[in-house]
Amino acid sequence: MGILDIFRKKPEMATDPVCHMSVDVAKARATSHFEGETFYFCAPGCKHMFDEDPSKYIGSEKPAVEM
Ligand SMILES: [Zn+2]
Repeated sequence: MGILDIFRKKPEMATDPVCHMSVDVAKARATSHFEGETFYFCAPGCKHMFDEDPSKYIGSEKPAVEM
């Protein structure tokens, strides 16, 4: 019940799977659920790209470009 409690609470960070930015989960602009996992995005645009083809951004280390 002190002001220190605010500082003791550490923010949980997640990585935006689309642009690989660090996202504070409490302040994420957008979230998406896929295969039982929650993903956090820095912007609705990233979520939109993810939702189009989630598997493109998950479990792949190669660039998400393919022709
Ligand atoms: Zn992003």
